Amino acid sequence: GEAAVACASGMGALTALFLALLAPGDHLVAARDLYGTTTAFLNEELSRLGVETIFVDATEPAQVLAALTPRTRAVYVESVSNPLLKLVDLEALGADLASRGVELIADSSFASPAILRPLGLGATVVHHSATKFISGHGDVTGGVAVGRQELMDRVRAAMMRIGTNLGPFDAWLAVRGLRTLHVRLERQSANALALARFLEGRQEVSRVYYPGLPSHPQHGLAQRLFKNGAGAICSFDLKGGAPAVERFMAGLCLIEFAPSYGDVATTWSYPVRTSHRQIPEAERTALGIGPGLVRLSVGIEA
Ligand SMILES: *Cc1c(COP(=O)(O)O)cnc(C)c1O
Repeated sequence: GEAAVACASGMGALTALFLALLAPGDHLVAARDLYGTTTAFLNEELSRLGVETIFVDATEPAQVLAALTPRTRAVYVESVSNPLLKLVDLEALGADLASRGVELIADSSFASPAILRPLGLGATVVHHSATKFISGHGDVTGGVAVGRQELMDRVRAAMMRIGTNLGPFDAWLAVRGLRTLHVRLERQSANALALARFLEGRQEVSRVYYPGLPSHPQHGLAQRLFKNGAGAICSFDLKGGAPAVERFMAGLCLIEFAPSYGDVATTWSYPVRTSHRQIPEAERTALGIGPGLVRLSVGIEA
């Protein structure tokens, strides 16, 4: 990207970006599959500021394009969605949106820049929670927006005014982590693929979500998008729902629970209680986020 703005958190970067970009009366088209706090931000905060969000199934480019109105300023998607690893075909959207002057913003936190480069595929802005893979050690909160200079100048001005500046120690830690990003993701992707294959063979597991598996519904797109492995996140459904997750949790010896992800150590999370607790249960169920869903962030272990 031409320029980037580092912020105190992923949500801090998102807030600065939307304040720089949107005004009352504007429309935003957003994926239905998003990090839960992002969905809540669009529904609870942006709506009060007079920005209307239209949610679509972003795995279908035609649905995104059909939702555009003359007031649409931007389309917001996760290149790889949290927590079900649905992919967005950025190439299929980029040209159409550019010709209409609509920004294509990709939250690429789940993938990291080591395996996916949305700006080269048609996105005009990339957004990362640097809390995750960019810092990579579970000891930082940070966020970054990347895009063309003129827009990032406005994002930087908004960031200073609302005070979501990245602290100097977190900045130092994030840059330290960034040096090993490509090496970490190589090992993490290899480990995640091995684990995904293992889980797929287990009778306790009803479904595994990992773009590197041929069983992933968008495996062909994954092969086009990812250059060096399909990433470190792998989710799966345990048969038997919440009680099965409790047994699983009690049996784990080495893997710690963490609501975040992207650490060098493998961690696990439970989306209905963490990342998506702010989404009403009926909506979660409609999205496919059930009580048996476990999300793994696979580390660099041997
Ligand atoms: C964690 C996360 C965010 C928010 O980032 P914070 O640094 O926790 O504020 C946004 N989008 C996605 C996909 C995330 O996983």
